[in-house]
Amino acid sequence: MKKPFVTEEKLNEIVNVFNTPFHLYDEKGIRENAKAVKEAFSWNRGFREYFAVKATPNPFLINILKEYGCGTDCSSMTELMLSDALGFKGEEIMFSSNDTPAEEFVYAAKIGATINLDDFTHIQFLEDTIGYIPETISCRLNPGGVFKISNSIMDNPGDAKYGFTTEQIIEGYKILKEKGAKRFGIHAFLASNTVTNDYYPTLAKTLFETVVEIKEKAGVEISFINLSGGVGIPYSPDQLPNDIRAIGEGVKKVYDEVLGAAGMNDVAIYTEMGRFMMGPYGCLVTKAIHEKHTHKEYIGVDACAVNLMRPAMYGAYHHITVMGKDNHVCDHTYDVVGSLCENNDKFAIDRKLPKIDMGDLLVIHDTGAHGFSMGYNYNGKLKSAEILLKEDGSFELIRRAETPKDYFATFDCFDVFDNMRSLEDLD
Ligand SMILES: *Cc1c(COP(=O)(O)O)cnc(C)c1O
Repeated sequence: MKKPFVTEEKLNEIVNVFNTPFHLYDEKGIRENAKAVKEAFSWNRGFREYFAVKATPNPFLINILKEYGCGTDCSSMTELMLSDALGFKGEEIMFSSNDTPAEEFVYAAKIGATINLDDFTHIQFLEDTIGYIPETISCRLNPGGVFKISNSIMDNPGDAKYGFTTEQIIEGYKILKEKGAKRFGIHAFLASNTVTNDYYPTLAKTLFETVVEIKEKAGVEISFINLSGGVGIPYSPDQLPNDIRAIGEGVKKVYDEVLGAAGMNDVAIYTEMGRFMMGPYGCLVTKAIHEKHTHKEYIGVDACAVNLMRPAMYGAYHHITVMGKDNHVCDHTYDVVGSLCENNDKFAIDRKLPKIDMGDLLVIHDTGAHGFSMGYNYNGKLKSAEILLKEDGSFELIRRAETPKDYFATFDCFDVFDNMRSLEDLD
């Protein structure tokens, strides 16, 4: 059974101070997991996890990961800016972007981030843009086809917009070397949200074999291999969580078999996990405000898809706990919905839950990654606050909720507040 990381008592304390909805994060869980990741790959001297900033771009949370030696993985200008502001230096920042605007390459190069090129044509584009090829450079591989573990298809890289083909990448390294690059990396992201301990080892084997091929065919020695993201979490209560220790061991085994055998024992392993680092350690707290009995039974909550887009966008399952009703039987079937004028604004469809009363607090699980950060402002809805539940039981606002003023702020030539009638005028 999935249990929230926060007790009912503590949550009531928080709700007395901050209005729902909000995203709540669990410092203790984040720390324990970051430590476990570090230990799982401690066999590799150069190991570093570059946290995928897009998953949870909050400085307070990223600073926790920094204590465990994590760097950041960025895909945009603002993510690079945030990383620089948090004191991440040169090699601690990975820039794994695609369809990259010129000014982002310029800025990434300026702050010394490692540039991970998404395409063969970006070699020339980068050189034309910044005037040189950096000494340290990485390329993203997309071997095409389908990505299988044993016999089951995990994902479809042949359909994905990312990366160089194998032939392109070999040619690419030759060119990069001629143009002055000295330290080379390779990167691949071939399946998303994998709930199996075999994803990284299987991907690693492909990359390790490619690295040996690159050495033979391009005369380039790869210094770091970036397994990127894709390590998943059990959103549904019947899934078994990944065991990061087993994953680390699995990668070590193929490392010894393939790279060890080729005499390449000092290649660093990098990861760019987002979901695995934060997903389970965040939840969306929302309140039941309406119940509606029509063709179906609906519970309307004060959060909506603007606060958590995954169910609307992917039909993703997010477990829901009705606080204080642990021991009640799940004898009601509800659609749990938000207030957007979009019928896909449903956090759950036909979900068996205990009877929900107005004012009940609902905890929507596993929103710590790709939750708040995917938020948007459709229907003029405002983004929620983010709150950190600390190890000592205290809690802190780590991002305030948006206000109408934030929403209207970009109309430089029209001040909504100046033109609006005041509430007193309306009386
Ligand atoms: C999204 C992304 C990640 C993180 O993926 P998760 O599934 O959250 O681990 C890492 N690297 C790149 C390039 C990405 O686009």
